[in-house]
Amino acid sequence: MAPPMSANGILDALRDEGLTVVEVGDWRTHNRNHKGPWGPVHGVMIHHTVTKGRDHTVRLCRDGRPGLPGPLCHGVITKDGHVHLVGHGRANHAGKGDRDVLRAVIAEKALPHDNQANVDGNAHFYGFECENLGDGEDPWPEAQLLAIEKAAAAICRRHGWTARSVIGHLEWQPGKVDPRGFSMKTMRARIAERLK
Ligand SMILES: [Zn+2]
Repeated sequence: MAPPMSANGILDALRDEGLTVVEVGDWRTHNRNHKGPWGPVHGVMIHHTVTKGRDHTVRLCRDGRPGLPGPLCHGVITKDGHVHLVGHGRANHAGKGDRDVLRAVIAEKALPHDNQANVDGNAHFYGFECENLGDGEDPWPEAQLLAIEKAAAAICRRHGWTARSVIGHLEWQPGKVDPRGFSMKTMRARIAERLK
């Protein structure tokens, strides 16, 4: 449990982890803070976008779509492994999820199965959307997987969290399948190794 990092804090953390970071427009003040709380933060959530193409993906995540205004995350991780910062503050990425999962993330314990949607995740998670069609066939380049590992580790490192603070959307909200194409268990192991 912690107050969210400042915009500069996030930027520095990502760059210190060795990531190439692209600042998109007015990302420092682009948020949904007028719609609800942002913080305390407890973890990092990983998503896939169901899109193809860097520019289109970044724009969609920044602007949102009809019925779901942006930002749709804080950082977009494209297939080239670059992190595009599109928002800072509350973002429309997590939606409602399982209170028991949130408890497990806070305690950094093994996750229970998500079977309810009764707590506001947008207040409590940093979100990274990753460019992928999410069809189970679109490949995840190693550069992109490495960037996911680094971005999540960068946030955990600054907050003093372990890899257990990193979850996939599919572990949060019943019915969600993202990210699809790699396992969060494997990704958490990579993040844990990096944090050693
Ligand atoms: Zn998602």
